[in-house]
Amino acid sequence: MRIVNGTCPFPRGKAVGGTTISNGLAYVRGHPIDFDRWSDMGNPGWSYEDVLPYFKKSEDFHRNNPLAPVDFNYHGTGGYLSVEYHLPPSRYLAAFLNANQELGYKLTDYNSPEQIGASPVQQNTKHGRRADGGSAFILPILNRTNLKVMTDSFVIKLHINEDTKKVAGVYFSYKGKIHIAKPRKEVIISAGAISSPQLLLLSGIGPKDHLNEMQIPVIQNLEVGSTLRDHSQYYGLTFASNISLPSQPLSNYIEEYLKGVGPFTISGPNDGIGFYQTSFEKTANYPDLELVIISPNATSTFFKDTFGWNDDTYDATWGGIDVSSSFSIYIINLHQLSVGSVKLKSNSPYDYPLIDANFLSDPNNRDIQVLYEGIQFVLKLTATDAFKTIGAKFQAKPLPACKEFEAFSKDYWYCSLRQLTFDVYHPVGTCPMGPDSNSGAVVDNKLKVYGITNLRVADSSVFPFTLSGHPNAPCVMIGEKVSDLIKEQYNRL
Ligand SMILES: Cc1cc2nc3c(=O)[nH]c(=O)nc-3n(C[C@H](O)[C@H](O)[C@H](O)COP(=O)(O)OP(=O)(O)OC[C@H]3O[C@@H](n4cnc5c(N)ncnc54)[C@H](O)[C@@H]3O)c2cc1C
Repeated sequence: MRIVNGTCPFPRGKAVGGTTISNGLAYVRGHPIDFDRWSDMGNPGWSYEDVLPYFKKSEDFHRNNPLAPVDFNYHGTGGYLSVEYHLPPSRYLAAFLNANQELGYKLTDYNSPEQIGASPVQQNTKHGRRADGGSAFILPILNRTNLKVMTDSFVIKLHINEDTKKVAGVYFSYKGKIHIAKPRKEVIISAGAISSPQLLLLSGIGPKDHLNEMQIPVIQNLEVGSTLRDHSQYYGLTFASNISLPSQPLSNYIEEYLKGVGPFTISGPNDGIGFYQTSFEKTANYPDLELVIISPNATSTFFKDTFGWNDDTYDATWGGIDVSSSFSIYIINLHQLSVGSVKLKSNSPYDYPLIDANFLSDPNNRDIQVLYEGIQFVLKLTATDAFKTIGAKFQAKPLPACKEFEAFSKDYWYCSLRQLTFDVYHPVGTCPMGPDSNSGAVVDNKLKVYGITNLRVADSSVFPFTLSGHPNAPCVMIGEKVSDLIKEQYNRL
């Protein structure tokens, strides 16, 4: 087996060309019920009991914050992927944790089966430095003779024999030329929830009508890209506080960073995290809502640019706020019913695909109701004594786009939810796993693409639904698992 850039079973990382915005990633696996559901959908080998050993195998957990709640039965040490807490804990975090306790939520290790409750964020950093898939798993083994990493290469399509349905090669561009990598046994695509479906579609694996429309010969008719699932996040709740963190010279922050502490070492900046069950989730102890406290609010202009907010919206939500003493609480719908899609714009590999998140589109409006319940909960949480001690005060001015509604009435919040609900960059499920390709599945429980002899997909695109966690930790688990599936197939386990 050869590994080509972007076709290796590891998650986003600098070494393989992924995006790098925050310093570390929040490490959130999901609830045991997620994986039992995954298995019960006809995917043997993916229950919580099956996958927990893989989560633990890759983990190198450091309890560097003695006050953080931890259940050691669910953590591993000695793996490649470092997990630790950001230091030092902030006063915002203390207020968040105390406020949760005031409302009856316990402090919990959310990566144990007791996910509901609040905690400091477990993050993928090592002594405060980003520990992503590339730096954790690839850099330490770069000198292995059976591994070749070619950065700056771009996979453009698979060459599949129409008769045998076997992948004969992977075409990629490198230094201005097209090359082909030929597999001895099989090919594994790990290009992520957007690019994996794009590559399959470009190679003739996808819905036949769409391929016909793109003038791509159909090799295998499968629902590639027909389902895009994500966590939607409401960004509109900003609060002032009496905490003042005056800016320091850059050199001070760098000095702190070198010691593994301080603002440059935080993921996000996600300070604290909480998981909750709304009235819409009927399975006992199964969270469907997440809150993240972001402090201080240094990310405001970043979001303006990222999401393309106009000046009116930006001014109403962030305008005039002292970023050094304010915080936000983001609300995440974990089990979104709305389903989007990834399609090709053209049959050129150099065109970006068309991504339709299709948020808040479910016919019964459950997704918006979950987020609305989240807003009500945050307003209650920030009215606790714990938040009063830091002078928490809701800041936003009514959005001009929602001026027809009485400010902060239910109708107003629904309008605001439709203005300020965006992606949290957790796309999954575009090549979903399932037992039957006639019901939309693209890969089977061994991650093999239906109808193709020697092709697997191993990344976030195979999730059958959004989990109660963030996708990176489960992607690492998938990487661990696919290694064993391969060894099993070739009697090396
Ligand atoms: C800003 C941001 C913040 C996030 N924060 C968190 C977080 O805190 N916690 C968390 O759990 N998740 C987080 N995520 C999500 C998480 O990063 C992804 O879910 C995860 O990385 C998905 O892993 P993957 O292996 O499916 O794909 P990716 O990590 O996207 O890996 C795909 C790789 O394939 C390469 N590639 C794609 N196409 C090609 C091609 N044609 N040729 C060659 N190479 C190609 C890409 O460059 C990339 O390196 C965040 C995402 C973003 C964007």
